Amino acid sequence: MPAPHVELARAAVPNEMGHVVLAFAERVLAPRDLAGLRERLWLGRTYLYVTPGPRLIERALEGFPPEVRALCARCPFHRYDARGGGGFWPDGNEIWLAAGVETYEGLRQVRLSACHELFHFVCWNHPRYRADEGRGFARLRSVVAESRALVDAFPRYRDWVTGSFLRQGDHANVVEYFADIPTNFRDAHQLPPPIAAHFAPLIDGSPFPSEFDTALADGGNDLAAFQRSLAPA
Ligand SMILES: [Zn+2]
Repeated sequence: MPAPHVELARAAVPNEMGHVVLAFAERVLAPRDLAGLRERLWLGRTYLYVTPGPRLIERALEGFPPEVRALCARCPFHRYDARGGGGFWPDGNEIWLAAGVETYEGLRQVRLSACHELFHFVCWNHPRYRADEGRGFARLRSVVAESRALVDAFPRYRDWVTGSFLRQGDHANVVEYFADIPTNFRDAHQLPPPIAAHFAPLIDGSPFPSEFDTALADGGNDLAAFQRSLAPA
């Protein structure tokens, strides 16, 4: 899929007013009434609030280590005219996120969606993680396999893997796994230790494990094998 390429223009003052309205509506309306409001707004293709890209990067990465925030501050982050969707496009090294995510999925969800896409950017632009991607995610695959027997001691992670991640079928691949872990696990202690050590530099600024950069055989590209290695032993 080609990247969208037309940035949605927003006037600052109505956008800020829309932010107040949206935050208020999310707080006071019952879920049914909020869903009804969203359907009426969509009849007019209305976006109450669209966070400008640079501000969304800051909000999505609140609490992440300074190195991660500094890297992502360089990411071109665009908003475009659509109700939902978006992604990271490696060829342009940029993120496009639909303008409707705040209005139609919520102010919390937009930060999570942005965070996920930003960790695709990290994977592609951080030299050490990019090197692992270059060898087929060999180290990431090996820490996942090593963790398999430990998963039952980490119930939040286990439930996320089995109840959420693996349910995505073909989408449950190693690239998506990479972006999902820092987005969904802000406390590395909720992860099996080998996986925690791999992601901790991104989650809480811990140092890289000493063996992080050592050569490993290429990870191959077998989706079924990756998914089997994720399932609790
Ligand atoms: Zn993704």
